[in-house]
Amino acid sequence: MSDAVEPKHGRLRLGVLAFALTATLTLLCCAGGAAAFFLTELGGDDELRLTNQECTDDFRVEVAGAMPQMSQYGELQLRNAARIIQVGQELQVPPRGWVIAVATAMQESRLRNLANPTVPGSEQLPNEGVGSDHDSVGLFQQRAGWGSVQERMTPEYAARKFYEKLVEVPGWQQLPLTRAAQAVQVSAFPDAYAKHEALASKIVNSLAGGAARTVPVDGGHACDAAEDGRIAASGWTAPIPGDVGSGFRTQERPAHQGVDIAADKGTPIQAAASGRVLVARCDPDRAGELSCDVDGWPGKGGCGWFVDIAHAGKIITRYCHLAEKPKVSAGDSVRAGEEIGVIGSSGNSSGPHLHFEVHTDGDRSSDGAIDPVRFMREQGAPLRSVE
Ligand SMILES: [Zn+2]
Repeated sequence: MSDAVEPKHGRLRLGVLAFALTATLTLLCCAGGAAAFFLTELGGDDELRLTNQECTDDFRVEVAGAMPQMSQYGELQLRNAARIIQVGQELQVPPRGWVIAVATAMQESRLRNLANPTVPGSEQLPNEGVGSDHDSVGLFQQRAGWGSVQERMTPEYAARKFYEKLVEVPGWQQLPLTRAAQAVQVSAFPDAYAKHEALASKIVNSLAGGAARTVPVDGGHACDAAEDGRIAASGWTAPIPGDVGSGFRTQERPAHQGVDIAADKGTPIQAAASGRVLVARCDPDRAGELSCDVDGWPGKGGCGWFVDIAHAGKIITRYCHLAEKPKVSAGDSVRAGEEIGVIGSSGNSSGPHLHFEVHTDGDRSSDGAIDPVRFMREQGAPLRSVE
């Protein structure tokens, strides 16, 4: 599939057509603003050096074993993450809960079991540093009502109390991480949790066999199956079910900054993860006209009706060629799986499909674009790839 090809034709014919058309088409849809911008409130995480992100059926976590290497957290902190995951497993909390718990402890204590000088006795207990927030102690910075000082400074106890409260939050598995964590923690800075979601997912993947890439099914878990309203523990889901035709920066289309996914006109498009809508509008065509309410054509230019969403970790997703004005507006908060619009063929397009992009570092320009197939696979929400 390509922006320039009617998807109803067979694949063989498509390939021929795509070749013929791309030979004359250099313009791409959705040349967004070139200026990079940064979402400070959703802040990012540094580079990761975590290995073993593959999804397996074995989520066993080794608290006493060797820990992976990463730049932001040391062995002691990752071992605390392993403890948090292990308690979640013992309580049979689904992997989404492990990601939320690890992200919460990242924000509250940087995964350290903290004492507090204002809490008598806390500094005499084993600790990994001191905090100073009210009378909070431990990995989750729990206040006096959560248990004794000794209990709150026991990682397994602290994690158990967190999970016990989390699973009582209605619909917690579908909530954006910020809202689920906030419902438990009641923090003055709830948005701060979200920025840890991507790294928490990678830590869970690395320590527990790719568990953040799973969706719950029939009392178990399935790897890499987050579509059709199922959301992976990482918080991601495929925007539409369907096969990727024209790929990311292929030899034939080196400036194609996203992938094209075939779908019938009117198919609902879902936000790939929770976040905030940055842009939801008609992209001017090559002539500068705002003519998105009619089907476009190859060479018309522009992304048509489109939506950009900012996610945790300075990731941005882009959805182009919608049939009509998006169902969301700039500034809206959206949940993973929430419908943002429907498939169409507006802008530089010759048939109904979704042009989908993923950008990193808060960079909406083509410089920030990465391969959506690879990225979404790593989140457990793969786009089906047709080679
Ligand atoms: Zn495209």
